[in-house]
Formats: sequence, structure tokens, C-alpha cells
Amino acid sequence: MNSRTFLISLLIISTLSVSAQQKKSAAAVQSTAVSRPKLMVGIVVDQMRWDYLYRFYERYGSGGFKRMLNEGFSVENTYINYLPSVTAVGHATVYTGSVPAIHGMAGNDFIEQSTGRIVYCVEDTTVSTVGSGTVVAGKMSPRNLLTTTMTDELRLATNFRSKVIAVASKDRGSIIPGGHTANAGYWYDEDTGNWVTSTYYMNTLPAWVSNFNAQKYHEKYLKQDWNTLYPINTYIQSTKDDATRYEGKFAGTASPTFPVKTSEMSDRWANLITATPYGSSLTLDLAKAAVENEQLGADAITDFLAISVSSPDYIGHQFGPNSIEVEDTYLRLDRDLATFFSYLDTKVGKGNYTVFLTADHAAQQNANFMIDNKIQAGYFLTSNIQRQLNTLLENDFKVKAAVRSLSNYQVSLNYQAIEAGKASVADVKKIIIEFLQKQQGVAFAVDAEQAQTVNIPSEYRERVINGYNRDRSGVIQIILKPAWYSGTGGTGATHGTLNPGDTRIPFVLMGWGIKHGKTNNPYNMTDIAPTITGLLRIQEPNGNIGKAVSEAYK
Ligand code: ZN
Ligand code: ZN
Ligand code: ZN
Repeated sequence: MNSRTFLISLLIISTLSVSAQQKKSAAAVQSTAVSRPKLMVGIVVDQMRWDYLYRFYERYGSGGFKRMLNEGFSVENTYINYLPSVTAVGHATVYTGSVPAIHGMAGNDFIEQSTGRIVYCVEDTTVSTVGSGTVVAGKMSPRNLLTTTMTDELRLATNFRSKVIAVASKDRGSIIPGGHTANAGYWYDEDTGNWVTSTYYMNTLPAWVSNFNAQKYHEKYLKQDWNTLYPINTYIQSTKDDATRYEGKFAGTASPTFPVKTSEMSDRWANLITATPYGSSLTLDLAKAAVENEQLGADAITDFLAISVSSPDYIGHQFGPNSIEVEDTYLRLDRDLATFFSYLDTKVGKGNYTVFLTADHAAQQNANFMIDNKIQAGYFLTSNIQRQLNTLLENDFKVKAAVRSLSNYQVSLNYQAIEAGKASVADVKKIIIEFLQKQQGVAFAVDAEQAQTVNIPSEYRERVINGYNRDRSGVIQIILKPAWYSGTGGTGATHGTLNPGDTRIPFVLMGWGIKHGKTNNPYNMTDIAPTITGLLRIQEPNGNIGKAVSEAYK
């Protein structure tokens, strides 16, 4: 071996050893790589009560809710820890781990306290509709949300390589979960039957969404009519309670009973579908198309699909919790979820994705139904109260229209009028609180800025403080007696209060990283986001006040 060949051999040997070393260190990197699911799926069921998991348990199939409970982890005592318990706030809290005082989503509509302007939670006049000719449908964005969401944090953590897609028939059910940085949020335009988005996200719909719209699936669903999935006499809810006193009729029908002849209502199909269980089916169809066409969960970088199923809320409002319509809605949703999960098993792979299911709020029973069954309940007539308050304040202080609104169970004051009338805000508040506390159905009326010193149960106090956003909430919080709610004695049911009917929600997880089991320890809605970000090993949202349910982790 001359010196030249020696040098060459040396070079070869050292190259080999470098390459072996590279392989070794690559292996070391791989073995210490942070493992994460390929896809996170969030499912919010709008208005789902926790007890629906068990009330209908025996009627569910094996692949939907039952699969989640039997393979996954259920956080049995999850409560909403703020007021008011409505859709925009619920979606914001689930995805931010925060509360109105911080995330700013103080209601579906909230009142800008400095001007009195009513603001829709996701309104944005600077953007426009993409996907239909309806002007207002797409003037929407997440700009009123003041904090990051867990979906934002995932995008930030992967330097925007994770894809985030949000889908819901309600605009707010899609836009808020998607956060500020979503690749796309899609929602349903009830005027045209199209799924739309806004220029906040993009300037034209992707071809797969346009193709989906061109199929007019809503018509195909509604041509089938809405019959009960199983023979009606097998339902837990009895036909005895299927009465107009408790249930709202579909326009043009004689009674709120099955079958609902949706095939004969073609004049309003685009709008009608969200008021039937087919709205849930259509939403999951679009979610599946998103996985398929956006390659969600196809590579090692975690993607996030945020779904909100809005139809159960419309149906719950129309018929109330103890109705065959609501029972059928959940039996059908269960079947749709089973189909969706088995699709994910095939497409993304069982064990490669994690899904969590929760609700933005629940709902309480129809008050007439409670009264007829000898339970204390009642209707609080908000508009009458506002009129009486303003008359009283005009007499006492010579200030006209000092109360702007009683919406969201909060008294919003007209501060300019009070100041111009040289009245003291503290005196005005005192008179209002004294008046409200004498009204039938009122348990407490609380000055949110003095809540810490008011003699109310601490659980109530916490919810008042968490729900009060100085810039966007009315300063006096009205807390009604249990089973009372704002309304004029009508049909159906609603939500918004702090009673367990409205505030106890399901929180069930399944799949990658989740062990099988349940906890009966108390948790709050604010604990959902940090549980998910903890599982993904990313930073929690920047307004988070919750704590991870670490009992659910493998
Ligand atoms: Zn809702
Ligand atoms: Zn009915
Ligand atoms: Zn609702």
C-alpha cells in the first residue's frame, strides 16, 4: 500500500464510520422523538346534556357514544364555570381554556359597554362571503376573540405545518374553534344550502368544497322525510308528552309529531335541514370530505379537525329534552358518529388519532312540563322588567332609558345617560338590584364588580366573576331560581343559566394516548383545552385558566 492508496483507504474507512455514526444518531433521534397523534378531532355537540350519554345508552349501537365510553375515558363531572351558558361562549371556552372575563366572548351577541352597540360574536365587516351570493353569511371572522385557541397553539408549535380545519353549520361553531390561524373554517349558508367561508381565510372555495356544494346533499336528505329510526313505541320518551304545549311545530304542520314530511317542504329545504338530524349527518359528511381532500392525519405532523354539530341545539330548542324528537336525534347522531369513527379507523388508522367529544352547553326542561309535573319552575319576563326598571329610574333620577338591555341575564347600563343626568352609577345599581331581588323567580341580583363581597354560594360567585367582561358584559348579573328561565311561557327548551341542566356537559376522549376509564372528580369546561394541549405536548392557549385532566392519559 503506497501512501496514496493508504490515504484513500483511510478516507473510505472514515467516511464509512461517519455514515455509521450518522445512522446511529438518526436512530437516537428517532427513539427520543416526541410521539403525537396524527390527527386530533374535536367534536362539540351543540346543547348535549351529559345525561344523554346514559339516558339513551341502551339504545345506542356499539360504534358511536358507546365506543367512546367503552374504549375511551369519560370525565363524568364536567361543568361550565361562567355565565351565560350559550353557544359562542361555550365554543370559546372549550377551545381556549378561558372564560369571558379573559377571552372576551361574552355572549352570542354582546354589548360593547362604552357605546351600547350590539356585537354579534363573530361579525366582521371587513371581510366578505366566499362560496355563495349571500352577503351577510360570510361577514364573519374570529377577530373578536381575545386569546389564542388550542388550534392556534398547535399551528404556532409546528410553525404552521399542522393543518387546522373547522366545520359546523353555525358560523360561530366553526370560526371560534378554528381560532385565528385556521387554514379554513366552513359553515352552512341557510339561504342557499352552500357551505361557505369568508375572505378572512381565502378568496375562493377549494374545488372539493365547491364539488360538495354542487351535490346538494341537503335535498337528498330531506327527500327522505324524518321518521323515527326505530319503531316509535320503543322510544324511552312517551308519545303522551308529544304535545303542542311543550313542543314547537314545524311551520305548516298540524302537530309536533312523527313523521315529519320534509319531502313536502321543498320551498325551504336549504334552511330546514339544520332543524333536523340530517343537519348532523351533513356536517359529518363535510368533515369526512375534509379529511379525504385535505389529507388530514396523513403524515407525522399532527392536524386538527374541529367539528361542531349544531342541529341538536335547534331540535332541543324546538322540542325540549323529554321529546321523541331529541331522543331520535341522538340515536341518529350515534349512528353517524359510528360511521365517522370507522372511516377514521380506515383512513388515519385506529390508534393514530384522538377524538374528544363535549358540548358548548346543555339545556333544561320546558318550564310548563315541570309545572305540570309538580316541580317548581317558571318564566321570567325580561322585557316587562326592563320597562319597569326604566320607569322607576326615570322617576328617581330623571334619567331616561338608563337600562339598555337585560340580555344574557345581565343588566347593561347606559352610562352616558346616567352621567348626563348627573346621577350616581352606584345609586342606580342599588335601586336596580333592590327591584330585581323582589321579582318572582329571581334568586340573586349581583353587581359583578362587587361579587367578591356578596353573600351568595361560592360556586355562583365564581361563575359571575368568570363571566363578567368589563367591556362587553352588563354589570348586574341576574341569577334565577332553578328551573326558571327567560321566556314567555312557550314551547321547547333553552339554556343560559348556571343550573346543572344547562351547565353539566359530557367530556369523553378516545384513541391515541387515552386510557380506558372514567373519573368522577369535579372538572370545569376550562380544563378541556389544557387536557388536549397536554396530550399534544404543546403550549396551552394564552388565556388558559384550566388544569389538564391527567387521569385520562395513558
Ligand atoms: Zn349552543
Ligand atoms: Zn313531538
Ligand atoms: Zn341554543
